[in-house]
Amino acid sequence: MSGEPLNIVRFVNSKVEYDKGALEGLLLHPDVKDRKLIFISIVGAFRRGKSFFLGYCLRYLYAHYKSIKNPHNLINNPNWMGAADTPLQGFTWRSGTQRDTTGIIFWSDVFLVDLPNGEKAAMIIADSQGLFDTETSTADNSKIFSLVTLMTSMEILNLQGIIQEDHLQYLQFATEYAKFTTNQSGQSQKPFQNFMFLIRDWSNPDEYPFGYEGGRKYLDEILVVKPHHPAELKSVREYIKSSFDKLTCSLLPYPGKTVARDSNYDGRWAPMDEDFLNELKLLIPKLLSVEHLTTKKINGIDMTGALANEYFQQFLNIFQS
Ligand code: GDP
Ligand code: MG
Repeated sequence: MSGEPLNIVRFVNSKVEYDKGALEGLLLHPDVKDRKLIFISIVGAFRRGKSFFLGYCLRYLYAHYKSIKNPHNLINNPNWMGAADTPLQGFTWRSGTQRDTTGIIFWSDVFLVDLPNGEKAAMIIADSQGLFDTETSTADNSKIFSLVTLMTSMEILNLQGIIQEDHLQYLQFATEYAKFTTNQSGQSQKPFQNFMFLIRDWSNPDEYPFGYEGGRKYLDEILVVKPHHPAELKSVREYIKSSFDKLTCSLLPYPGKTVARDSNYDGRWAPMDEDFLNELKLLIPKLLSVEHLTTKKINGIDMTGALANEYFQQFLNIFQS
């Protein structure tokens, strides 16, 4: 695997710091700057399998797309999961109970995608760390969440068990903050693109089956506005629906004891529970195959790498103060 995690956006004493050179190295790369940008990110609490999930996403991406570090990569390898005993590489995962960094971590390799409509796109993958944990203040959490939302065309919110009311409130808060700080409040189109709730250790498959379909039904049930809802619950739901072009949900099973608990586990797929493995193999292509990708727009403007560089730095500077 060619590439490494780059902690480009960092929180230090509640202040945003970013590595301008590293950011420009990705967005202004000669193969990226003129392509339409696709930006995929994951947010959510610590130690819930975010980086682990992205590691398998990277396996899919390297088997299907060229990248700036592998411009001549052999593509469309159906055996993208690789061998059962290959340790998982990619974003640093399973970092014990102590978190190390707070911020946004970018994969240093950018994938080069030819979209079905003939457009050329470049795909950036980003992980995040430090969100919702006990040491990060609510204000810092909102900043990271908002920044990620501003940059992303496909945002994944990784949650364990169920979607709770406070997750929705949090999402509303972060999107409001994002819209407000960047003056996107008065726009007629929805400000953000795709958003997926990824539920881990889903324990209710009898009512809502694992995967995308079950997730859609579950999310519909969560987001529906009911007559008896107090005004606050109604407005959260309406707000979220009006902020994203597409809201989806996917329900993943418990991965099995080795994945969840074994401290020597190296990420290979051999010991995964069969249900989990099957759902992972279905979900990742649903997220990352070429017909499902969405390019990034800001205020209705299509972002190229070069334009995104300008906008992102503008956002980062706003968040610095
Ligand atoms: P992150 O902090 O959210 O990025 O979490 P990591 O990806 O570092 O994973 C933390 C731990 O959770 C590791 O030991 C993984 O093996 C384990 N893990 C990965 N996926 C799952 C899952 O779906 N459910 C559970 N219970 N554990 C998982
Ligand atoms: Mg992580």
